[in-house]
Amino acid sequence: MNNYLRVGIYLRLSKEDKDKLNKEDDSESIKNQRHLLYDYISHHNNFILVDEYCDEDLSGAGTYRPEFNRLINDCENKKIDIVLCKSQSRFSRDMEIIEKYLHNKFNEWHIRFISLADNADTFNLGNKKARQINGLVNEWYLEDISNNIRSAFNSKMKQGELISPFAPFGYDINPLDNNKLIIDSPASLIVKDIFNLYLKGYSFTKIANYLNKQNIPSPSYYKYLKGIKLNIVSSKKREDILWSNNAIKNILTNEVYIGNLIQGKRTTISYKNHKVIKKEPHTWLKSLNTHEPIISKDIFNKVQSIIKTKSKPLKKTGLLNPFSHKVYCLECHHLMRKKNSSLHEYLYCPNPLCSNPSIRYDTLSNLILNHLNSLIKNYYKEELFHNYLNKLNKDNNLIKEQKELETKIKHNQNIFITLYEDKLNNLITPLEYKKLLSTYQKQNIIYKKELKQIKNKLLAKENISFNQFTNLNKIITDEFITKIYISKINKQNREIKIIWNI
Ligand SMILES: [Zn+2]
Repeated sequence: MNNYLRVGIYLRLSKEDKDKLNKEDDSESIKNQRHLLYDYISHHNNFILVDEYCDEDLSGAGTYRPEFNRLINDCENKKIDIVLCKSQSRFSRDMEIIEKYLHNKFNEWHIRFISLADNADTFNLGNKKARQINGLVNEWYLEDISNNIRSAFNSKMKQGELISPFAPFGYDINPLDNNKLIIDSPASLIVKDIFNLYLKGYSFTKIANYLNKQNIPSPSYYKYLKGIKLNIVSSKKREDILWSNNAIKNILTNEVYIGNLIQGKRTTISYKNHKVIKKEPHTWLKSLNTHEPIISKDIFNKVQSIIKTKSKPLKKTGLLNPFSHKVYCLECHHLMRKKNSSLHEYLYCPNPLCSNPSIRYDTLSNLILNHLNSLIKNYYKEELFHNYLNKLNKDNNLIKEQKELETKIKHNQNIFITLYEDKLNNLITPLEYKKLLSTYQKQNIIYKKELKQIKNKLLAKENISFNQFTNLNKIITDEFITKIYISKINKQNREIKIIWNI
């Protein structure tokens, strides 16, 4: 054994530093700490540096500090004699940790603790009170900082300013104002697709599968491709992170896409405990119309109402069940339940006291579709009939206009002849003739244009058609149907009662 004392230096770049410094200063802060400590060691002939422990970007209150843990481990295993820090607060801002190590464990392990800025040295026994006071001040400081940051963030959020350094998928942070969002065109198209697919009846999973099949990068892989660093702790490679039904659900329910900013959904428990917890929706901070929407409010609301009444997707098609909670047994009024056989999907009455009618899904679908289409046809017919006189009057107006225009055009053509005769009889000069002729000709060109438009309008009215549904989906059934009652088959006949929602 020699007389050298083995020194381990502990460096920490704190979150508090980060809030104060520009990003470029990050490395400076660590460099300064290191420089200071090296300088101190060089002034003590019996000190020898054996290891450096450096936690970057980690809070002094957090428990997850890998290098700190390695330092403690090395202390316990007697690999070092002295722990050297710039200040006690770099070592820890937590009173409990100060107490645990500086005043207990380090004593037990014969470790000397020195911090330069606050003159702490456990070698000096009279120093303890000062260290405790330092520890206490540091703890208050940290709590203050934490509260200050929280309140600054809260007031920013209340003003509708973006706090997150990351934009939600479909948006970018505005380079001119990093509290605002701007649309990221390629990603916004995918967001639109997601909403449209959902309205077509695709489930979350089916949309996710579809996007993955099309090799559309997932939001986190997309961020990675754009060079945005994420704090994701994941064993997966970024390119292996695929679209999930959760990712789809998050997009479909995020008001950010209609131009609203919702923040403060999550928080950490306290400045000491960084566990992230979800906050109650009524405490979220919502700012309206803070940026350009990608989705119309109409579409967004439709999607929300479908999600609210969401049901499990049909096994076969992956689409939302259009008959969910709508089909009842006509015999006993029990809600009918879904059942899958290897070939078909069925609805059946599960009541043990009933004769248990059942019906195939596709049969019911076609039946309802036909009913619906004939209903719509009749509706249109009635509508047409009700509006018949009205339209006829409008048509009459058009016909009247048409006749007036035809008369005007004819009148002008007669004038051409009169003018020509006047010119021949020298009643007007050739120049006057030319002028007048051009005036009437121009007028006639306008009349003829108007006449063409009216004729087109009249033609269009003769070809009124109406749309028919070719497929059933949940939007259609929700819109038109309240309940459906199914009876059992009786002499090859089945009674179906539809309670229309119109
Ligand atoms: Zn029944």
